[in-house]
Amino acid sequence: MEQYELLWDYQQADIAVDHFEREMKNNANRKELIKYRDFLLEQQGVLKKIESDADVMSDRLEALRDEMSRLKSNVEEMSTSFKKDPPADVESVSNQVQQMSKLISKITHYEAEITKIHKDADIRDKQQRETRVRAAKARAEFDRIKEIYDKEYKDASAQLAKLKARVEKEARKVDKSLLDRYQQIKLHSSPPLTKIRDGRCGGCNMQLPAADMNKVRTGATYIECENCGRIILVTNQE
Ligand SMILES: [Zn+2]
Repeated sequence: MEQYELLWDYQQADIAVDHFEREMKNNANRKELIKYRDFLLEQQGVLKKIESDADVMSDRLEALRDEMSRLKSNVEEMSTSFKKDPPADVESVSNQVQQMSKLISKITHYEAEITKIHKDADIRDKQQRETRVRAAKARAEFDRIKEIYDKEYKDASAQLAKLKARVEKEARKVDKSLLDRYQQIKLHSSPPLTKIRDGRCGGCNMQLPAADMNKVRTGATYIECENCGRIILVTNQE
């Protein structure tokens, strides 16, 4: 058999592998698994964020409680000294009352913040529970599909190995330099080998120049497409 015809057979095997690999990649269960995996990663991120928010808020809560007890003891001290040693003039009274109301306003402000933190914590707890439930459901679905997919993948891999073995078998019949050229063309035009179709390149559909058609008439076994670089077989013309 002529080298270019052997290369044609090699190409058939090579294309079969490409098609099969594409099919494997497009496997519906594989796509579902990727979707669930991404979803689970997203939920993990959500849970992490909730936990770190909770940590920050718990630190803030501790600081607020310290500050509150400090302010409250300030208020107590002031009111004790006010009773024990009442200010002599109106101005001092007014001063102390002003200081006191400042303290109380601060306390009120902090109390409001503490209330808000507790409310936020409840919302976060609810969100955390819901996220965990969602993640658990997704995880179960992931596991269910994974079991099916693993089996599919195992079967497909065996099939792929057979197809690849065929490629290797065909490759052994073809000259190394010709195979290299095939791979080179494949980088930009696939499949690299084609046939003449109505005086056109079967790959890119470009009208073949008269010079090439002359070569064909005078018995060339192959020509090269000036446009796409494919090898156009003449002997296998259909
Ligand atoms: Zn072409």
